Amino acid sequence: MQKLKNKVAVITGGSSGIGLATAKRFAAEGAYIFITGRRQSQLDAAVKEIGSNVTAVQGDISNLDDINRLYEVVAKEKGKLDIVVANAGIIERTLLENATPEHFDSIFSVNVKAPYFTVQKALPILNDGGSIVLVASTAHRVGVPEHSTYSASKAALRSLSRTFAAELKGRKIRVNTLSPGPVDTPIFDGQGSKEEIEATKNAYAQWIPMGRLGKPEELASAALFLASDESSFSTGIDLVSDGGQTQL
Ligand code: NAD
Repeated sequence: MQKLKNKVAVITGGSSGIGLATAKRFAAEGAYIFITGRRQSQLDAAVKEIGSNVTAVQGDISNLDDINRLYEVVAKEKGKLDIVVANAGIIERTLLENATPEHFDSIFSVNVKAPYFTVQKALPILNDGGSIVLVASTAHRVGVPEHSTYSASKAALRSLSRTFAAELKGRKIRVNTLSPGPVDTPIFDGQGSKEEIEATKNAYAQWIPMGRLGKPEELASAALFLASDESSFSTGIDLVSDGGQTQL
C-alpha cells in the first residue's frame, strides 16, 4: 500500500541530492510533489526524472517573496498541503579566523531563515495532522573544523523542531528533524578540487563505522518515515541516519 496516497508535499531543494531522491520516493508512494530550487534547468531535469505528479517552482528559498509565491502556487493548484520537507541547504567550509560576515549571513539565511519561514508560511494551508521535516545534519552533534556556521545552522533547526512541535501539537502537526551523516550528493561539488573532494569523501568513509557514505535514497526512506503515519508517535525527534558516525 502506498504510504502517501493523496498527500500533497512541498520539498525545498527537491531538484538535487537528498531532496530529489525524496521527491521521487514520495511520488512513488502516491503523493503530489512541489519542488523548489534555484536553477530552472536543474528543476526541469528533476521534473523529467520524477515523471508525474510534480510541479516545480523556481526561486531562492531565502527570499520571502519567493516562499510566498511557492505557497500561492500550491494553494492555486491543490488548495491544501500535508507535508513540508525543508531540505534546501548549503555549506561553505571556513575556519573561524577566516570567516566573513557575508559568509555567516549567507549560511544562516539559507539554512535557518529559509526553513523557518518555509514552515511559517505553510501554516495557513497545511492540514491539521500534517508532518514537517527539517533536514539538519549530524554536523550539529559533533565539532568538525571549518564547519562552525554550518553546524550551528543545523543545531538551530534541531532546536526549532522542538519548539515548532510544541506550538503545533494542538493541530496534530508533527515536526521532526532528519540528521543525515555524509551522503554522496552534489553538495560536495563546491567544496574544493576534484582530488580534494575525493579525499574528503574517503576521510568520511573511514570515519563512518559502516565504512561508506550514505545514499540519497537511504535518506529518502528516513524522510518517508517522518513524513508518513509510520512515525505517528514521533514529534520533536532528531532522526539520525549516518551509518553509525555519531552513535558508535
Ligand atoms: P544538494 O546540493 O544536492 O542539494 C541542495 C538543494 O538545495 C539543491 O536543490 C539546491 O538547488 C537547493 N538550494 C540551495 N540553496 C538554495 C536556495 N537559496 N534557494 C533554493 N534552493 C536552494 O545537497 P544535499 O546533500 O542533497 O543536501 C540536502 C540537505 O541535506 C541540505 O540541507 C544539507 O545541508 C543536508 N545534509 C547533507 C549531507 C550530505 O552529506 N550530503 C549531510 C548532512 C546534511
